Amino acid sequence: MNETFIADKDGYYGDFGGAFIPEMLRQNVESLRAVYHDVIESAEFKKEFNMLLTDYAGRPSPLFLAKRLSKKYGARIYLKREDLNHTGSHKINNTIGQILLAKKMGKTRIIAETGAGQHGVATATVCALMGLECVVYMGETDMIRQEPNVKRMEFLGARVVAAKSGNKTLKDATNEALRDWICNPENTFYIIGSVVGPHPYPDIVTKFQSVISEELLYQLKAKEGVGNPDYIIACVGGGSNAAGIFYHYINRKNVKLIGVEAAGEGIKTGRTAATITVGDAGIIHGSKTILMQNEDGQITEPYSISAGLDYPGVGPLHAWLSKTGRARYMNATDTEALTAAYELTRLEGIIPALESAHALAVLGKLSFKETDLVVVNISGRGDKDMLAYTDAKKLFP
Ligand SMILES: *Cc1c(COP(=O)(O)O)cnc(C)c1O
Repeated sequence: MNETFIADKDGYYGDFGGAFIPEMLRQNVESLRAVYHDVIESAEFKKEFNMLLTDYAGRPSPLFLAKRLSKKYGARIYLKREDLNHTGSHKINNTIGQILLAKKMGKTRIIAETGAGQHGVATATVCALMGLECVVYMGETDMIRQEPNVKRMEFLGARVVAAKSGNKTLKDATNEALRDWICNPENTFYIIGSVVGPHPYPDIVTKFQSVISEELLYQLKAKEGVGNPDYIIACVGGGSNAAGIFYHYINRKNVKLIGVEAAGEGIKTGRTAATITVGDAGIIHGSKTILMQNEDGQITEPYSISAGLDYPGVGPLHAWLSKTGRARYMNATDTEALTAAYELTRLEGIIPALESAHALAVLGKLSFKETDLVVVNISGRGDKDMLAYTDAKKLFP
């Protein structure tokens, strides 16, 4: 593995990745591919990126030893607090990087897709910061269940456009954004929100999110005297927060990497978004990866209570980490996630995003030794999910 970029020059992670795109997108994708290495690696870019991560987003995010949670599960459990970033999730790491890339390429109009609205908010935020026009595509279903984020995007000056096809969630919003990009190749930059899409997007987003594990290395060293934890656990929608916290540990083979997908109502119910568990190889949104599909290769509609995990594909990096056995992929149901969110709230005074609650939900499914060092990525905060938490009151003691 190349220490800077994991994908090979054609964007492959083993069998997965690449750029499977219509001819009309080729020019857009190719112009990005031609410049991204040099731009991101330049001293000027790094300086501005790091300044904004520190002074604007509030990095480094703290690493917190959760004592009461640790006691409950019999291990030393640390929380990586991405929920404390500006705008409330890890998404801002990536949108800061991509807007700088867009500016370097001379683009004046920004488009994005969003599920839970966190990527849309993070994109609208950096567009306000840079004074650029912003259009966000969001599934109509998600606009209802994550309404506070729609209001935030609009207040920030973005135009939010409803995607009305399919089950009106993240996949459908992504289709709309790609369609817009085809129609506006000259002035428009597409800021993708996860480690998905055609090469070079998965590589770019992984690189920007890798700041999470870069910090974790020195934070653990300072607190525990070692750089390596025994376990790293993160939820997986497209897989960007997981890619970011796995990144610097992929070659440290004694660190167990665990991704957690949304099982929805259960992996056997057909109402699920646990892509790696129930899916197989195919092509979605420009990349060869694992996805949920029927016998005819038609994409199956995903389901999860969590809008940020409600996606029928997964980034090609995760398809590869799963296939090679380097990372293990588990899943948690809606109910398990809701219960885990309640538990963290009452044990530690931290209300996690519904997405992050899926990662917490597997703590009880693993058997730890008392001395095990476990890091859970709290990808975002739960303000946007208060409606779902209030509706689930009957589940809680
Ligand atoms: C978007 C989002 C996710 C899922 O996206 P990944 O690319 O898998 O990280 C997870 N948690 C939060 C808080 C999100 O906003």
